[in-house]
Amino acid sequence: MLDVPIMPTKTPITVAHGDGIGPEIMSATLQILEAAGAALEIETIEIGEKVYLRGNSAGIEPSSWESLLRTKVFLKAPITTPQGGGFKSLNVTTRKTLGQYANVRPCVSYHPFVDTKHPNMDVVIVRENEEDLYAGIEYQLTPEVTSCIKLISRPGSEKIVRYAFEYARLHNRKKVTCFMKDNIMKVTDGLFHKVFEEIAPEYPDIQKEVWIVDIGAAKMADTPEAFDVIVMPNLYGDILSDVAAQIAGSVGLAGSANIGETCSMFEAIHGSAPRRAGQNLANPSGLLLGSVLMLVHINQPEVAERVHNAWLRTIEDGVHTYDIFTEGISTQKVGTKEFAAAVVARVGQKPNRLKPVAYAKRPEAAPKAAAKVAVNTTSMELKGIDVFVYWPSRNPNELAEAVGKLAGEGLTLQMIDNRGVKVWPAGRAETFCTDSFRCRFMSETPVGMGRLLEVVKGISDAGIDIALTQSLRTFDGQPGFTLAQGQ
Ligand code: NAD
Repeated sequence: MLDVPIMPTKTPITVAHGDGIGPEIMSATLQILEAAGAALEIETIEIGEKVYLRGNSAGIEPSSWESLLRTKVFLKAPITTPQGGGFKSLNVTTRKTLGQYANVRPCVSYHPFVDTKHPNMDVVIVRENEEDLYAGIEYQLTPEVTSCIKLISRPGSEKIVRYAFEYARLHNRKKVTCFMKDNIMKVTDGLFHKVFEEIAPEYPDIQKEVWIVDIGAAKMADTPEAFDVIVMPNLYGDILSDVAAQIAGSVGLAGSANIGETCSMFEAIHGSAPRRAGQNLANPSGLLLGSVLMLVHINQPEVAERVHNAWLRTIEDGVHTYDIFTEGISTQKVGTKEFAAAVVARVGQKPNRLKPVAYAKRPEAAPKAAAKVAVNTTSMELKGIDVFVYWPSRNPNELAEAVGKLAGEGLTLQMIDNRGVKVWPAGRAETFCTDSFRCRFMSETPVGMGRLLEVVKGISDAGIDIALTQSLRTFDGQPGFTLAQGQ
């Protein structure tokens, strides 16, 4: 009988070669993956500049969505978003459409081979990817005032916090730190913090830690070795993952994963660097390390390990592209193709001075980072309404006079504020006021929406412009709203 070698089952993935340096770094990456024995069935799609310029404002064709939904794994080279309005960010569209709730970015220093002030840095930023101020819900309320709504949900927070702990466990990390700012945003960041505290005890093997984001960020920039995995809401994560990649000394070397329940996307964190395109100059390392995250995700950890260790060995041997080439440290300045060939030649080798990586196979029954959604609210009571109005004279006492009498039975005008600072009753003359005021009408007992709408109608009938209304509720007796400063 003939010995037939058992071929590993190939995992289908979708690949986009992108724009600018994209095609060069993608072909280098795929060449290395192949040499390391990655079992991949590649479907290629076209995205980016050409698609945008064909008149597709999303930069991606419907047939490409079909491929993504079929393979559920997307290895994406950077694209160029054409200048001018009307073109939607493909990254944001992909993340949101495919529910990619977690952005994962390992930020590692490669001292002494890549210049850095933090030789022992090895931090993974896990950023919530769908919510927060990035829900993109913005309004201009009045000629002077704009607003952006910050949305933090319990399921969203549960998913990302659980993902961070699962990631830590799988990658043998010791600690998960939560960054947020619930001393100021008590309801939104307060929920994120609360969920972190609820989920952390499910992972007794992993240390937990909480920092207010401002001082936490300062500590991270100063002493990144003190951190391991850091989980945070979207905006802080967006900013701090760039800071972390930069201080590791390797913004051009970092890869990132956008993880969703249906489909995940893997990429470099840099853009398409059009000025470097077509010259065999670009460093393919960011995309290659993005593809390592992909290999772990599709449960090919041995291949991930081979690729990553060969890459570390190449960096350690001083074979560097122009962007990280340093006289005295580097031994050879190479182009994209030569760099890829150097990594291929080292497949099977491990670094000697840099720490080799080891990736574990994900247990088949690994719990998913799904939300528990343990919301046990039993009573929700309507207690009042905030009415944001345009009041160009900026005099809160006159506004109180005008709207106070419109409260009607059972409701009272409790306070008026300007951008969160109470200005009536007993406001201070020093408080700066814009043309947008919030009038809070409250009831001692639960009130119907019809009653609140009568107040809104009364204000409108009085000729006052209403910009926004927000109902005020208690949840199990606890107020679901904050007090104004000074209230
Ligand atoms: P960029 O990251 O493309 O390039 C900035 C500079 O960094 C380049 O000029 C180059 O000197 C250097 N650089 C970046 N990657 C490199 C690499 N792999 N090797 C060597 N040098 C590298 O940022 P940009 O110039 O602001 O943006 C260019 C285009 O990329 C824009 O159209 C932007 O919209 C797009 N972009 C795309 C993505 C993405 O697809 N994920 C991300 C960021 C920017």
